[in-house]
Amino acid sequence: MDFDGKMGPEGHAARVAVRPRYGIMVFPMDFEILREDGSARMGLLRLARGVIHTPAFMPVGTNATVKAMSPGELKEIGAEIILGNTYHLSLRPGHEIIRSVGGLHRFMNWERPILTDSGGFQVYSLSALREIEETGVHFKSHVDGSMHFIGPAEAMAIQAALDSDIAMVFDDCTPYPATHEYAFDSLRRTLSWARSCRELQREGQALFAIVQGSTYKDLRMMSAERLREIGFDGYAVGGLSVGEPKELMHEMIRFTGPLLPADRPRYLMGIGDLRDVLVATEAGFDMFDCVMPTRNARNGTLFTNAGRISIKRTEFKADEGPLDPRCGCDTCRNYPRAYLRHLFLTREILGMRLNTIHNLYFYMDFFRKMRDAVNSGTFSEFRRNWEGVIEREPVTEEEGT
Ligand SMILES: [Zn+2]
Repeated sequence: MDFDGKMGPEGHAARVAVRPRYGIMVFPMDFEILREDGSARMGLLRLARGVIHTPAFMPVGTNATVKAMSPGELKEIGAEIILGNTYHLSLRPGHEIIRSVGGLHRFMNWERPILTDSGGFQVYSLSALREIEETGVHFKSHVDGSMHFIGPAEAMAIQAALDSDIAMVFDDCTPYPATHEYAFDSLRRTLSWARSCRELQREGQALFAIVQGSTYKDLRMMSAERLREIGFDGYAVGGLSVGEPKELMHEMIRFTGPLLPADRPRYLMGIGDLRDVLVATEAGFDMFDCVMPTRNARNGTLFTNAGRISIKRTEFKADEGPLDPRCGCDTCRNYPRAYLRHLFLTREILGMRLNTIHNLYFYMDFFRKMRDAVNSGTFSEFRRNWEGVIEREPVTEEEGT
């Protein structure tokens, strides 16, 4: 097994992988921390469909597609796991249709692991109308305005139909700002739903809990403690990056990370700004997902080793150089900046595809370098260097899921 983020044939052989210390691996999941540097960790998450090097970035495949990328291209850039959305897929095409076609992997021709979001966050962020009850949430579809209901049982049934490798518990995402009283009430629901989801966990499917509690440390602590008592395969932190100031978000990341069991994967949901990723990795998080690289790519904002650039700028009009001379992706190896600018301005589909290939490759490469830094005990230095690069970015854009 190599540790540079590439998936060799041995990754696909994980189905019969043997873990030296314990013999035949126990499914649905096995997590091993290989190195620690301060609180930052580098490890391996083994699932039946493949091995994931952590800290890991999961490209977002909301509608059973990582926008503009084919599964072959995703593999080529080194993606080991992607994320699918319960909320979106249950509305369109419908999870029963996906089940009848053989599950999400077969449906979208992606044989590596998939994590499915439970829908809690999308119900909160996308639905025009939501009514929360003790048993779940009634919401209005953002697609056609029809009314639907998702609770823990529905979320688990949908994720079972999709046959994802990692399912998430259904949670109540607390809006920001929220009073302590509201946040406590919301957390109480999340905990009760987590318990129901745990009871419904399917054999062979890993289940991750979600820590909520808004920006209240006592609630985050209580949330983590109760979820640990129930016991899950992994632990996620949700309800951040929902409008709170950046400093407060970082404070909550630093506070909550160490509350999660050290021997289980820790997943920071929906956060992928590289500055935040550095803070979270330092706090001991292992998994990340975000639409930032793919959405920015389609908007012509590209990450490079010299900071972010906007490809539409006039200075690139006749620029014959590669997008990022230090990047090894297909886009950077083969196309001049002038061409990428032209494709973007003429709204050609190829422009979005080439930009997405680059941005996702850049993210995968960043995570590979970050793992190498943890491995060699130089994470602090890596972090300082990158903060310098990221601060140089001339473009800032609002992001969200
Ligand atoms: Zn590139």
